[in-house]
Amino acid sequence: MSSGSLATPVSLRDSHCPSCFLLRVNPVGSFLCHLLGDNPQKWRPLLSVYYLTYACSLRCPYCCDGSGRPYYQLDRKALPASRIGELLRIVRRHSEHLVVTGGEPSEHPECAAVLDDLAALRFRSVILTTNGRTLDTLLPAVQRSVTHLVVSLQTLDSARADSWYGHGAGTHARVLANLERAAALPGRRFEIILSSVVTPENIPDLHEVYRFAKACGFRLAACPQLVGTKAHAGLVDNPEYRAFYDLLISEKRRGGSIQGTVDYLEYLRDLRKFSCRPFTMLVVSPVGEVFYPCLELGQSAGNLLDEPDLHRLRRAGCERFGPQPACDNRCHSACALGFSRLLANPASMLHEAALVARSWLA
Ligand code: SF4
Ligand code: SF4
Repeated sequence: MSSGSLATPVSLRDSHCPSCFLLRVNPVGSFLCHLLGDNPQKWRPLLSVYYLTYACSLRCPYCCDGSGRPYYQLDRKALPASRIGELLRIVRRHSEHLVVTGGEPSEHPECAAVLDDLAALRFRSVILTTNGRTLDTLLPAVQRSVTHLVVSLQTLDSARADSWYGHGAGTHARVLANLERAAALPGRRFEIILSSVVTPENIPDLHEVYRFAKACGFRLAACPQLVGTKAHAGLVDNPEYRAFYDLLISEKRRGGSIQGTVDYLEYLRDLRKFSCRPFTMLVVSPVGEVFYPCLELGQSAGNLLDEPDLHRLRRAGCERFGPQPACDNRCHSACALGFSRLLANPASMLHEAALVARSWLA
């Protein structure tokens, strides 16, 4: 497909849909379409997530998918870079923003080539998540194609981190050295975000991680440890956990670089039930399977390489698995909770807008 055709996503060709006018006018229109309500015949993701590979050499004790299995135990089948290019061209027709994740993306043998190919697809943002261990090998490709580099960090204590990573002494030191290398890259064009899993064991460490993020000019994204789809039982009604989010909320109100709106952070702090909007996301497995309606439920609506029309895939998923489920209190993650709360409380974005304006004026 030529880059010219990317300017006209397939979903925009349906002239009978009044909301498609909004999509043509502005990508913000996509958000407005979701605000107006969910059309069960259509699938218009605000963000796509591609699991490049489930492989990972680390053994973090908190690693877990929606069914409770660590990612590194899932099927390691992956596509070659040429097929991934094909797949991501299809994803691009449906979405302006892409997350490349895993497992550990850098463990895909052609990760650098995949990132290089992304530049031509001109996503508005490309977010790469990594444990950072072999980040040095990817930095040239990251500089070319990635807008947000997300590095996982749970503590600054190397001995503790290495015991969690299960990959031998020196792993954490290597992650920190790679972070420093990424931050110091001449002409760096990507933002660095530290992503921390909040577990019952590492809350004191995370205060230090936040101070480190602040000192280095990184953003902090903190999410509770999920066991399957539920927050770890040791976090529920845990005063240390609440106090940590209270700190993040007060820092956020003061303009701190913390991922998510105040409303979102309050939901994380309280582990409050929310109405999930899974069709704001498109989540694709390493081989191209589209999760319906979400990764957490582990159901596939079909393969995007066989059926590139996402609206049809949604209808196929609905026939096999039923409409969007009404879930219980679960999935307090950036993906499920983030867009769901923005749609439930769009006014919460005003504070974000004010912070951006303040940083421009500073
Ligand atoms: S780095 Fe990520 S994918 Fe790898 S074991 Fe840890 S949590 Fe799992
Ligand atoms: S809460 Fe959302 S992400 Fe979680 S299982 Fe339900 S639909 Fe999926």
